[in-house]
Amino acid sequence: MAKHNCSPSSVRESLELLSKNWSIDPQIYDLQLGKRNDVYDTSLRVDRVTFHIPTLSRENLFVLWKCLWPDCHNCCDRQGRLPLTMDDIHVITRKMGYTLQSDFLKNEARISSWNENDEKGNVSNLFSMLSLKRKQDESEDEDGTPVSCRFLTQDGACELHPEKPGVCWLYPFASWINIENNLPVVHATFQFTGDCPGFYLSDSLDQIMPVLEEYSKTIYKYNMAVRRTVRNSYGLINFVSSTPS
Ligand code: SF4
Ligand code: SF4
Repeated sequence: MAKHNCSPSSVRESLELLSKNWSIDPQIYDLQLGKRNDVYDTSLRVDRVTFHIPTLSRENLFVLWKCLWPDCHNCCDRQGRLPLTMDDIHVITRKMGYTLQSDFLKNEARISSWNENDEKGNVSNLFSMLSLKRKQDESEDEDGTPVSCRFLTQDGACELHPEKPGVCWLYPFASWINIENNLPVVHATFQFTGDCPGFYLSDSLDQIMPVLEEYSKTIYKYNMAVRRTVRNSYGLINFVSSTPS
């Protein structure tokens, strides 16, 4: 799911903010600004998800990631939207002390809509889903803009954890489903919003393999939960057929 809108100017703004507290590798900085023209995709199937790892051909280096929490909680401080699956709605209704799901949705959720891009930047899916408000008075025009999430505590923890929305377990991966040979296939890549200091370069994929193995399960489960949500009319996805390369 999109973390927030990623126009070049918003990514630049996010990176400038991030650089005040973190040292960002200049190659990764340029990559996120779209200034590298030598990036190719290394595809890697891990369990039931195909990961697309950006690779810098000049240096022959992979762009990898590890989470720096608890030293960092920037993704919660600059949260773009929190789409809810049916599973999320069930557990967060209870977690927030509501008896009726309808009351939870009326008070705590709103509808958001956005596009998902594939690894080449083509629009792959168009979404419309109920989303958890990141602040109590969240308005429609704030959808996709970075807001500090109301569930983030002073010490960088999440008040909803471990019942936080499924999408919170995915960042900084973006994932999507392509219909290939009439079957849904889950893909994932990094979303470069400029908010995450956890990216690094390496000449080997070894270090990230345990991360991909863990996230493969989470990403697959999440995408199936989104499909169930749409099937039950709690959301809408328009699949856009893949553009031939
Ligand atoms: S911004 Fe990146 S490093 Fe920081 S907590 Fe989020 S995922 Fe982890
Ligand atoms: S719900 Fe929790 S994990 Fe998700 S953005 Fe808010 S504070 Fe972060």
